Amino acid sequence: MTERLQHFIGGAHVAPVDGEYFASTNPATLDVLYEAARGTAADVDRAVTAARTAFESPAWAGLTATRRGHLLRRLADLVGEHADELALLESLDNGKLLREMRGQMRTLPEYFYYYAGLADKVQGAQIPASNLAILNYTQREPLGVVGAITPWNSPLTLTTSKIAPALAAGNTVVIKPSEYTSRTVLRLAELAAEAGFPDGVINVVTGLGVEAGAPLVSHPALAKISFTGSTATGSRIASEAAARFIGCTLELGGKSPNIVFDDADVSNAAMGVIAGIYAAGGQTCIAGSRVFAHKAVYDELLERVTERARSITIGDPLADETELGPLAFADQLDKVDSYVQLGASEGARVHAGGGRPDGLELPGYFYSPTVLTDVHNDMRVVREEIFGPVAAIMPFEHEDELVALANDTEYGLAAGVWTQNLARAHRLARRLDAGTIWVNTYRAMSPMSPRQGFKSSGVGIEHGIESMQEYTRLKSVWINT
Ligand code: NAD
Repeated sequence: MTERLQHFIGGAHVAPVDGEYFASTNPATLDVLYEAARGTAADVDRAVTAARTAFESPAWAGLTATRRGHLLRRLADLVGEHADELALLESLDNGKLLREMRGQMRTLPEYFYYYAGLADKVQGAQIPASNLAILNYTQREPLGVVGAITPWNSPLTLTTSKIAPALAAGNTVVIKPSEYTSRTVLRLAELAAEAGFPDGVINVVTGLGVEAGAPLVSHPALAKISFTGSTATGSRIASEAAARFIGCTLELGGKSPNIVFDDADVSNAAMGVIAGIYAAGGQTCIAGSRVFAHKAVYDELLERVTERARSITIGDPLADETELGPLAFADQLDKVDSYVQLGASEGARVHAGGGRPDGLELPGYFYSPTVLTDVHNDMRVVREEIFGPVAAIMPFEHEDELVALANDTEYGLAAGVWTQNLARAHRLARRLDAGTIWVNTYRAMSPMSPRQGFKSSGVGIEHGIESMQEYTRLKSVWINT
């Protein structure tokens, strides 16, 4: 009998109001892993009500900020102790390499420790606004119930980026994880209960986007929505939040340039290009999917990337030797392949990949690392987010031309620059229209370092001290003494 996962509401496992469940499948083997509660507006209402009650309860509102930090530290310890279990569950759910997930889960406690340390450092200020006998000061307050809606590619890390600062600031949360990866977020809520978080502070409603995500965004008692996912969904959520004047933080899609200059160490740059696009099968928002190579190093870079793309070991994500697992679900596979076919029909040349790898025994959603050339900025494969292992490599000659090409995109999440010229590195960091710039590295990230998507890549800031402000509101108090 298939295991059934329930919502986690008010500190308990709760069956869905209308009794419906949906199946979650292992994308490598296509085996059904479990069924999860198919949440609806009624379940969301229960969860938000539980979160609102907890927000006002002495058990949570009565805690000192230092004590809230202590709870986050206990949760961090438990996450660390369960890192291997969480890594395995996440890898089974989304097909990412077990090796990679272990790395992510070992880093995950750092997020909780970091925000635990900030919990009692949220301060107001005394303002010298008047020379009369009036005292003016500001205080930062939690918002109330925060909704967190997250995607499937890094379920726990992306959820933690939202709930750790939200909880540190004194809010309560309702999480709606992706329908493809319900399990680890539920497990996190269980660990939080074990750590001592009061009932109702952390709630999870599983289900589909339209059925469970949309009612969360539109729930009248929600004070803030923090969303990571596609730009199309983000736009819908932003409209809803704007209509109700609630805050929203959005981390959305990307089509990031990874730029190799003629003075770069081409061997390092090739490795950076490969990690930039093929890690997690390109299913990362920061994927360096548009590669620009100076024409003096273009041939060498193309050869190195193509050679490596052809030799990447594809297979069982649980096996140590595997370098690339499956895509997360069937629609992802269809989407990636249809983009590659579209590009080819518009004149793109396929140097590597371009289809399912040969000779694989596993039946899952595998796609070979793909290299496209003879592409240009007007083609959809270069403009739209594919979210798969597809690199489009394009030559350039002059820096000004390169900057114009790199910035000619609706997205502005990240950019990579490979150069030995320090002045150029600083210049490009200023000129590129993206929230994160990596020079001679790619994917470096820390809970301490704030990040923001520009243009259609997002609204608001995640990580760093700055993200605490996303989960608090400022009050100005005037007292006539
Ligand atoms: P998605 O937008 O389809 O779904 C994300 C979440 O939103 C899921 O939980 C889904 O159930 C929910 N959802 C869907 N429709 C909804 C609606 N109408 N109302 C409320 N919730 C709804 O995105 P996805 O395919 O799961 O994730 C991939 C996308 O996420 C990519 O575009 C990727 O770039 C982006 N992403 C961004 C970042 C970042 O930090 N910028 C990180 C990871 C992924």
